[in-house]
Amino acid sequence: MARPSRRKLCSLCSQSAPILYRVKYLEDGDWVFLCPQCWEKVSQNNPFYVYGGTWKAKKK
Ligand SMILES: [Zn+2]
Repeated sequence: MARPSRRKLCSLCSQSAPILYRVKYLEDGDWVFLCPQCWEKVSQNNPFYVYGGTWKAKKK
């Protein structure tokens, strides 16, 4: 695999983003990474939403 390892894709829209949020948003769901746009969608009015941290492509 020649792809750079420090790259993740949003679990919902499959887009890469410089920042992804690690969240759970289903009652029995696993941790997933979401881009800020999808994160906004699933975090609103969601009783199962759990925030697990922020992933950044660039570490500084
Ligand atoms: Zn997304």
